[in-house]
Amino acid sequence: MSVDPRVFRSALDRAHAHALTWLDSVESRPVGPRADADELLPLFSGPLQDGPLDAADVVDELARISEPGLMSMPSGRFFGWVIGGTLPSAMAADWLVSAWDQNAAMRGATPAVAAAEEAAGAWLLELLGLPRGSDVGFTTGATASNFVGLAAGRQYVLNAVGWDLAKDGLTGAPRVRVLVGADRHASVDLALKYLGLGTPVSVDVDDQGRIIPAALASTLAQGSGPVIVCLQAGNLHSGAFDPVGEAADIAHEHGAWVHLDGAFGLWAAASPSLRHHLAGLERCDSWATDAHKTLNVPYDCGVAIVAHPEVVRSVFGVHTSYLLNDEKGPGDALEKVPEFSRRARGVPVWAALRSLGRSGVIDLVDGLVANAQSFAVALAKMPGVKVLNDVVFTQLCISFGSDERTHSITKRLLADGVTWMSGSRWAGRDILRISVSNWTTDDADVADSLAALQRAISAEDAATT
Ligand SMILES: *Cc1c(COP(=O)(O)O)cnc(C)c1O
Repeated sequence: MSVDPRVFRSALDRAHAHALTWLDSVESRPVGPRADADELLPLFSGPLQDGPLDAADVVDELARISEPGLMSMPSGRFFGWVIGGTLPSAMAADWLVSAWDQNAAMRGATPAVAAAEEAAGAWLLELLGLPRGSDVGFTTGATASNFVGLAAGRQYVLNAVGWDLAKDGLTGAPRVRVLVGADRHASVDLALKYLGLGTPVSVDVDDQGRIIPAALASTLAQGSGPVIVCLQAGNLHSGAFDPVGEAADIAHEHGAWVHLDGAFGLWAAASPSLRHHLAGLERCDSWATDAHKTLNVPYDCGVAIVAHPEVVRSVFGVHTSYLLNDEKGPGDALEKVPEFSRRARGVPVWAALRSLGRSGVIDLVDGLVANAQSFAVALAKMPGVKVLNDVVFTQLCISFGSDERTHSITKRLLADGVTWMSGSRWAGRDILRISVSNWTTDDADVADSLAALQRAISAEDAATT
């Protein structure tokens, strides 16, 4: 059937207009949403009508009813969780990915997408200083990338003791010990759960959440057999980095596979002024990071990097008669990630890196850290405010005294609407956490957010005295 191109044009024109309206509103609208999901659900639901509707009308309706329930995550004054905005090049490339609608599983089927993803992968290895020739897979996020690295590790350490995991499965296999710092991200536990490896052994960490090498060595020495060590670059509270090289060497002495969760922190390796935090990171066996956080590409996009391509391909590779398998070349995407059919997630990464260039990537990462430092300097001067962590990267944990007072000030801050930061608990206290992850955040955003914080503190003081 020949589709009238005007059908696409009218729907895409509407989407384009609504996208620009949204992006124009990001600076001026309150950061938080105005309606919650329960209030919005009736607008989206009800019985599905019988007949079709015009595509452009559907797009109009979607934009209209979504509007009050959108959080201004792309705002330079959004500091919640660890989220990041979107670079224009990456957003536009992502639109093309949808228009092209390629199933990006195989090189032979979609050569342009494969070439873009392979080029982006090679640039990433170079920027992050990781071993050339490592396999790079584009996943849905760091959770999936942690899964990939830990799955490769599971296969490798079991094979090393003569257990053929692919053939014999996990039932009856020698127990795989997994050691992780106690202040890890919950997605590591999740990935281990998917892998049937159970709850890991927690290794002691210091006051910034960094794994203690001596504790790692003694915990490793307490057992034997197949073992995986999972390290962290970028603690989600303190931003701290495990002593990666030192810990990797200790782990390797015990025959371990070493995986590094660097969801947002791995990007420190791209910056000459920050790379020292990650000395020796190239000695790990696998690395997980996100492109949708620090690199500021649209959701969702993670990166799974494995130094031993034959291992990761033995886990995820599929060879059947109906596929176009890439037998000799750099390998198909479907051999490097859990998905079979997949979106061309690496294409926005290619566009982001192409538009930034090497210096642009460095400026992006250094800029986030500079803004975090500005927050730290200003907050240190505010009476009754305490920054609990050493601000080495993009994260700040703030206490306003008692847990109760911190809660109350956080609530006032979010109601104010100028800025958005999330609450959490760290170092035995309830905190307000600032994560600087958006490429658009500038000095004015930091100043406006500090002013909003000061208003919330003053209002709290006025209410309680
Ligand atoms: C965000 C994060 C993850 C999980 O990443 P997703 O992209 O949400 O899957 C894992 N580890 C760390 C340290 C993180 O900050």
